[in-house]
Amino acid sequence: MVPAVIYPLSSLVFGMLVGSFLNVCICRMPKDESIVSPPSHCPLCSYRIKWYDNIPLLSYLMLRGKCRGCGAHISLQYPLVELLNGILTLFLFLRFGPTLAFAALFLLCSALVVITFIDIEHQIIPDEISLPGIVVGFLLSFFIKGHGWLDSLLGILLGGGTLLLVAYGYHRLTGKDGMGGGDIKLLAMMGAFLGWKAVPFIIFASSLIGSIFGVSIMLLQKKDSKLAIPFGPYLAFGALLYIFYGQPLIRWYLNFGGFRLG
Ligand SMILES: [Zn+2]
Repeated sequence: MVPAVIYPLSSLVFGMLVGSFLNVCICRMPKDESIVSPPSHCPLCSYRIKWYDNIPLLSYLMLRGKCRGCGAHISLQYPLVELLNGILTLFLFLRFGPTLAFAALFLLCSALVVITFIDIEHQIIPDEISLPGIVVGFLLSFFIKGHGWLDSLLGILLGGGTLLLVAYGYHRLTGKDGMGGGDIKLLAMMGAFLGWKAVPFIIFASSLIGSIFGVSIMLLQKKDSKLAIPFGPYLAFGALLYIFYGQPLIRWYLNFGGFRLG
């Protein structure tokens, strides 16, 4: 008899192992490098990273954040991404169990982790993730219970369409590009995986969090913020919020606003 705790524990470890691969994507995709070859190496001394130096989290702690070859400092981003992806996978498993919905959301969340870190560092959202993501999310919708293909298709159209409209309006008003095309494709991908109802929630939540965060930075820096803060991470946060708390939050908001749900 296997103790029941083994399953959530496995999901945590699995999430961290995938997180290790996500680190490779985060580092190489913006440089248009292959994510499968060459094998992981130190960017400074080219020291080939052995399997025992590549155990999520543990290796970082054992090496005390330094390369075994040259002693160079290893970015905290590596263990952070591994831990983050492990915890997300664990929470998804606890919520959805061993289902296809869990597998689909695991793919989505892993993609969001990569997109978030790349967008923060480079202000781009790779098409290599968002475009296949739209297709995969749509295909999976045929097999997931309680989430039909039409829901997914409307999600893609609403997600892509709404932000396109916002971007177009902003451009007409100011003559500048405010919203990147990457954000539009990202929201279309979220709509594909989560269905059309997720789209207004994600836009509302990410704008709210984005403005709170943006104003705080403006106040802290005491200058007008013309600096481009990437919007992708806020969209990703909004999507996570929807996955775990979407339904109760929508209900609370509607009741709070004096609207009564049946
Ligand atoms: Zn090195």
